[in-house]
Amino acid sequence: MRAAVVHGFGEPLRVEDVPRPEPGPGEVLVRVEAAGLCHTDIHAAHGDWPVKPKLPLIPGHEGVGIVEAVGPGVARNIVEGERVAIPWLGYACGACEYCASGWETLCESQLNTGYSVDGSYAEYVKAHSRYVGKVPAGVSPFEAAPLTCAGVTTYKAVKLSGARPSELVAIFGVGGLGHLALQYARVAGAEVVAVDLHDEKLALAEELGARYTVNARERDAAEEIGKLGGADAAVVTAANPRAFEQAFGSLRRGGTLVLVGLPKENRMELPIFETVLKGITVVGSIVGTRADLKEVFDLHAAGRTRVIFEKRDLASVNECFEEVEREAVDARLVFDFGEQKDVRHAPEGAAGEPADQPTGEAAEARGPIPG
Ligand code: NAD
Ligand code: ZN
Ligand code: ZN
Repeated sequence: MRAAVVHGFGEPLRVEDVPRPEPGPGEVLVRVEAAGLCHTDIHAAHGDWPVKPKLPLIPGHEGVGIVEAVGPGVARNIVEGERVAIPWLGYACGACEYCASGWETLCESQLNTGYSVDGSYAEYVKAHSRYVGKVPAGVSPFEAAPLTCAGVTTYKAVKLSGARPSELVAIFGVGGLGHLALQYARVAGAEVVAVDLHDEKLALAEELGARYTVNARERDAAEEIGKLGGADAAVVTAANPRAFEQAFGSLRRGGTLVLVGLPKENRMELPIFETVLKGITVVGSIVGTRADLKEVFDLHAAGRTRVIFEKRDLASVNECFEEVEREAVDARLVFDFGEQKDVRHAPEGAAGEPADQPTGEAAEARGPIPG
């Protein structure tokens, strides 16, 4: 199968033929239709973070596609021919205190798609069946892909920001994550001030519901937001420590700073005196759970969010990385592997049952994939 592979940090990816993965116990094999390019994939390919990914690596954790085969022991709520999403949280133990309390994203035994295990920059990807998301009918794979990381991550971050009606939420960075973050803040009933370095991104933010915008290249974002009374919460998706510091400065007393972006510098300046006297809360937010992803898909299926994306061919992966690094992309680039029109849906309520002897609807839903 064709895949884009990182062989060395900072080297261009190589688009090459690699063996197709085999689904093991509890796993599914997914034929990829769409794979979003998250800025995390660029950090991974550069080896930017303290914890390095495996090498060689197939990146990609916004993969959406059709279940082509199921391994032994897969619950029969996942069937061949069904459309699923393969998120960053590729696997968690299901038994530790974090998993048991709905914080599976903090599981110490987790596997991360496109980082510690191969991801979706490939024609096929294997995934743990319990950690794939079901894509609802009516949501295209190209919209589902960015929702699988950019969506779920910012949905969770806005939840943690505590955004409420009548509040002002500042979104720093209107890229893949930020263009969705601002919509979730609007869904929560808050007003939004969007901050970026590019007027085109700020125009998009306005179109998506931001009431105010600040170009941080031209004006001091903290000062401008201060003129509005200060932000009740700031969600920082920019991969630049300067944005985090400005976001801190933009908060009103009692405000919450949500750290989401992961700049390679890994440090921001946080003044202790001001944090204490203003009663500021600082919180880190890592992706979201399966339950969050379901809510994200449901909101989208209900027409409450818009996903802005452009399709690309995997062959242009290195040019795409460069385009994102130049901040020249409207919101998200999505690699196009071809959409399958005839999609199946698993029966409701069959979760957790063994797959080896499917009966009824589940048995009927199996079989060769049409087309
Ligand atoms: P992106 O490149 O699509 O968007 C980043 C945006 O920030 C761009 O619009 C850019 O113009 C803007 N920007 C850059 N510097 C800025 C500044 N100083 N002030 C304001 N805006 C600025 O990237 P993305 O895919 O949205 O990812 C953003 C970051 O979030 C990356 O570091 C990524 O690794 C991280 N991330 C974190 C999580 C998590 O769970 N915490 C999940 C996914 C991605
Ligand atoms: Zn991501
Ligand atoms: Zn766990």
